[in-house]
Amino acid sequence: MGRRATGAAIVLSCAALIFACASSSSSPETTPAADGGGLETGTGPDAEADAVIIGAGPVGLFAVFELGLLEIEAHVIDALPQVGGQPGELYPDKPIYDIPGIPVCSGQALIDGLMRQIAPFKPRMHLGHQVSTLLKQGDGRFLVETHKGLRLLAKTVFIAAGVGAFVPKRLATHGIDAFEDRQLFYSVADAARFAGQRLVVVGGGDSALDWAIHFATQADDAPASVNLLHRRDSFQAAPASVARMRALCAAGAMRFVVGQVDDFEQQDGRLAAIQVLGPDGQTQPLPLDALLVFHGMSPKLGPIADWQLALERKQLVVDTEKFQTSEPGIFAVGDINTYPGKRKLILCGFHEATLAAYAAQAVVAPDKNLPFQYTTSSTRLHRLLGVDAAPER
Ligand SMILES: Cc1cc2nc3c(=O)[nH]c(=O)nc-3n(C[C@H](O)[C@H](O)[C@H](O)COP(=O)(O)OP(=O)(O)OC[C@H]3O[C@@H](n4cnc5c(N)ncnc54)[C@H](O)[C@@H]3O)c2cc1C
Repeated sequence: MGRRATGAAIVLSCAALIFACASSSSSPETTPAADGGGLETGTGPDAEADAVIIGAGPVGLFAVFELGLLEIEAHVIDALPQVGGQPGELYPDKPIYDIPGIPVCSGQALIDGLMRQIAPFKPRMHLGHQVSTLLKQGDGRFLVETHKGLRLLAKTVFIAAGVGAFVPKRLATHGIDAFEDRQLFYSVADAARFAGQRLVVVGGGDSALDWAIHFATQADDAPASVNLLHRRDSFQAAPASVARMRALCAAGAMRFVVGQVDDFEQQDGRLAAIQVLGPDGQTQPLPLDALLVFHGMSPKLGPIADWQLALERKQLVVDTEKFQTSEPGIFAVGDINTYPGKRKLILCGFHEATLAAYAAQAVVAPDKNLPFQYTTSSTRLHRLLGVDAAPER
C-alpha cells in the first residue's frame, strides 16, 4: 500500500497534550481582539506553547529543528493527515537537486530526512487540523484554533503555510456533500467500516487505485463489492498498480467503470446510488453504500487571508531580519511570505526559519542568554540532539 493510502486521519501525540488549563493562574487575561473575539473566561486552551508552527511542509519541519536548538519546544499543525507539504503531496517521487549537501533526493526522502532530524525535539504534531483562527490575547500571546476545535495558546506563531492548506478536491455534484463523513469520504480513517458494503472508489491516481486494490484483496472486513470509477480508461497511477487493478478485474475481484458522477439518488435519507455519465453520453445508476473520492488535493489560502496581517498578492509581508509579519511574535517562513528578492525555494525557507527562530527566542525567553554555538562542537547542543559527540567523518 502506498504512502497516501495509509494516510488516515492521524493526530500524533494529540491525546497526550490535551489537558485543561482553565485555572485562574494559567488562563490568560483577555482583551477583545481586533475582530472582537478572544479567549473567553473559563474556556482554557488545550495546551500552552512557546511556539506553534502552522504547516508541516519542509520549512515548518525545519523550523522545529532550529527552535529545538534554541531550547524552544514546538507544536506543529497541518491540515493534511501526514507531514510533507508540497514535496510529500505533489512530488514525492521526483528528484530534488538543490538542497545543499544532498546532490539528489526525492521529495519524500527529503521529508523523511527532516523527520529524522527533528525527532530529538519531539514536536507535538496535530495532523488533519486546519488552523481557522488566530487571535491575539490581552497578555500578548496568540490563540490558535483549528476547525476541529483544538486550541493552543502560543507565545510565538510560525506561519509556514506554503501555498495554503491542502484540502481534497470535492465532488461538484449539487447536494451530495450532505452525505460527507457518513457515506461520502475523501480519505480513509478506518478501512474496516466498509466491511460488507458496496463500495465505489472514484479517481485515476495512486490513491484511488491503491485503495481499490486494497479493498478488493482484503481478507478480513472485506466490502461486499468494489467498483473503481474513472472518467477514462487511462490512469495517472503507477503502471504496476494499473496492471494489478486490471488483473483483479479479470479475476472478478473488482470492477472498473468508465464514467463520472453526474447525479445521485437517495432513499430514506441515505445515499442509494450515483448516476454515472458514461463516454456514450448515457447515464446509468450505480448502487452503493459508500463512495470514496480521490480527486487529488488543492491548496487553499483560506483563513490566513482573514488574520489581519499585512498581505501582498496573497502573501504575508515580512522583514528580512526576523521574517516577522506585521504582528510582532508572528513569523512567516517559506512559500507563504514575501519580501524583496523572495525566491520560493526550500533552501531559502530553511534560512528564513533559522533567523525567525532566533527572533522568537527573544520573545519566548528574553532573559535566557544562550550563547551562539555550532552543532559540531557544543556539548549543550549534543545533549539536546541526544548524541554523545558529533558523528565523525
Ligand atoms: C512540482 C514541484 C517541484 C518543486 N521542486 C523544487 C526544487 O527542486 N527545489 C526547491 O527548492 N523547491 C521546489 N519546489 C518548491 C518547494 O516545494 C516549496 O518551496 C516548498 O515546499 C515550500 O515549503 P513550505 O514548508 O513553505 O510550504 P509547503 O510545502 O507548501 O507546506 C505548507 C503546509 O502548510 C499546510 N497548511 C497551509 N495552511 C494551513 C492551515 N490554515 N492550517 C493547517 N495547515 C496548513 C499545508 O497543508 C502544507 O502541508 C517545487 C514545487 C513543486 C510544486
